[in-house]
Amino acid sequence: MSFVELHKEVIACRKCPRLVEWREEVAHTKRKAYMDWEYWGKPVPGFGDPQARVLVVGLAPGAHGSNRTGRNFTGDASGKFLYPALYRAGFANQPDATSRDDGLELTDMYITASGRCAPPKNKPTAEELNNCQPFLEREIELLNPKVIVALGRIAFERLLRIYSEPKAGKRFAHGATFKLDAGPWLVCSYHPSQQNTLTGKLTVEMFDAMWKQVQTLMDKE
Ligand code: SF4
Repeated sequence: MSFVELHKEVIACRKCPRLVEWREEVAHTKRKAYMDWEYWGKPVPGFGDPQARVLVVGLAPGAHGSNRTGRNFTGDASGKFLYPALYRAGFANQPDATSRDDGLELTDMYITASGRCAPPKNKPTAEELNNCQPFLEREIELLNPKVIVALGRIAFERLLRIYSEPKAGKRFAHGATFKLDAGPWLVCSYHPSQQNTLTGKLTVEMFDAMWKQVQTLMDKE
């Protein structure tokens, strides 16, 4: 299976009734500031370099961010913190991410999520994450990444589950790094949501240091 085939399958998915209803309702009612947008309103497929050594896993699309634009972290506050950092680190060709045709390209990096549909209150249920897990497993199979970055605890726990890694001794903390038995490095980062960036829990310096650590691991055995 190729990424093109996988993306087609993702976009057509309607497995979680609650999320299908929510993503489509939000796309229909819209936010006042985006009334002239035609919202994406579908599952959001992964995005980036199909040869990437680094896989980044977030939580799920934001209702008026990637559920509107159709690309991960595009058009919301999390993306405004994430993409400038990726640009500074050399993974992105530009700091801005506003729409699917804004010219943004990633090098050696592929970005995806634990869940592919916008959930109410940004909280997917365990069942919804389980439903979506096979898509993440297939992305991992296609990429065979050297380094995986978990943006947030939910992504971290999902990845441990996929790799059947014991949780013992693996505590989620910003910058914590683990070598998984299956091979890749797993790096933890606080999620770049406003809840973390506006409160100072995640600063620009902390985020930049984490991406530097990722770059070191890319060339490490
Ligand atoms: S969250 Fe995943 S499994 Fe559920 S409907 Fe969306 S794409 Fe399908």
